[in-house]
Amino acid sequence: IIRMEAVNKWYGEFQVLTGIDLSVRTGERIVICGPSGSGKSTLIRCINRLETVQQGRIVVDGIDLTAGGKNVDAVRAEVGMVFQQFNLFPHLTILENCTLAPMRSRGMNQAQAEEVAMKYLTRVRIPEQAKKYPSQLSGGQQQRVAIARALCMTPKIMLFDEPTSALDPEMVKEVLDTMIGLAEDGMTMLCVTHEMGFARQVADRVIFMAEGKIVEQAPPAEFFGNPQNDKTRQFLGQIL
Ligand code: ATP
Ligand code: MG
Repeated sequence: IIRMEAVNKWYGEFQVLTGIDLSVRTGERIVICGPSGSGKSTLIRCINRLETVQQGRIVVDGIDLTAGGKNVDAVRAEVGMVFQQFNLFPHLTILENCTLAPMRSRGMNQAQAEEVAMKYLTRVRIPEQAKKYPSQLSGGQQQRVAIARALCMTPKIMLFDEPTSALDPEMVKEVLDTMIGLAEDGMTMLCVTHEMGFARQVADRVIFMAEGKIVEQAPPAEFFGNPQNDKTRQFLGQIL
């Protein structure tokens, strides 16, 4: 469902991605880890075209993002994203946060959009918060709203960029449990995270990045049990 071929990207003189080849099948769950500055966020932001690349090819669900033309809206409708900072609209209620995009770009009327929103707020187990504003919720609740909001667009792919790293420790689990639920339902997921317990439990494949390159990738048992690359070993030594 995702294919990246020989992708190179620069910020000015600085090459942030080098020779990225990555294929993801429908339903696959990928965890991406690596040191700060290794290009993890940049990589996943290329998949919903928050970033463009100078060289190589990126095809997402049959849409060629590197062909030029107006494919941004098409791909954004297919790919949901959840960020470290929850990025909810502070002046809108939880329900309004969830209904905005479906009404604007899926052509739903308010009643339809609210029905969909309540379905996903129930799924992340906070339907009772619908009338509140983001600032009235805990960090973990806000992040679950962010997940529900993305799901309201019925994406085929979900991208997560360190969704738990801004949370107090006691709220990490509720967000990870929500993500585990999504994985169990068969969602195609790419998650940048250093939650290695989550990686072990959920990932089909763990990818390690360093200095803009994919250095190593393997199923979790292999990745953690027998890392091949020195940089991977060093990284795992620091975080485990
Ligand atoms: P972290 O773990 O800290 O989130 P990361 O692996 O997600 O790191 P990126 O955010 O992808 O790394 O950034 C990779 C490199 O590109 C970093 O050196 C960063 O400083 C640089 N970079 C990121 N965004 C920009 C930008 N808009 N302009 C210039 N350089 C950038
Ligand atoms: Mg990042």
